Amino acid sequence: MDHEPVCMRAIDWVIDDAPVPAELAGTLVVIARACDDQGQGSSQPVAKIAKKTGKSVKQTQRDIARLRSLGLLLLGDQTLVHNLASGQRPTVYDVPLHIKGTKPVRAPRYSAERIAPEGVRRRPIPTAVRVAVFARDGDACIKCGSTHLLALDRIYPWSRGGPDTVENLRVLCGSCNSRKGARIEVIDDLAD
Ligand SMILES: [Zn+2]
Repeated sequence: MDHEPVCMRAIDWVIDDAPVPAELAGTLVVIARACDDQGQGSSQPVAKIAKKTGKSVKQTQRDIARLRSLGLLLLGDQTLVHNLASGQRPTVYDVPLHIKGTKPVRAPRYSAERIAPEGVRRRPIPTAVRVAVFARDGDACIKCGSTHLLALDRIYPWSRGGPDTVENLRVLCGSCNSRKGARIEVIDDLAD
């Protein structure tokens, strides 16, 4: 058990006030809790921060770099760790308790650039992807087993950013295609 002092003020800042993206909040709270009441002097090895958030050391380093670039993590007084051997000195961080703002909304799963602009011609599905989908689905409609007028269908529509990946594609026959109605997008034909 460790009984290090915990700075509730800094924890509250992360939770209530800091404009921190959700995916970085865990890393920031672990660093902030080890600060003093002014939000200064947090010194923990990256491996220890990673252990507490359950993330990898590499991901923790990326989180710290992003928090630094967002101005939510500042370099503190490095003389606080001068008593430690040079190879074992963690970086000392301060957190800016005065910074308050709205938390950013998480980015959508598929980026906006992938969404089809009106009238723009779609790129053909790569042959390797097409072959893999037909092989996985047994060269037949995955709903009824028919082999008539087969076409690839995007499960998550292209118009809403669905990617051309094997996971997002399936084989449907002409009949199941038309039954799907407006929700379906026929995007590639076996005949071409
Ligand atoms: Zn079918």
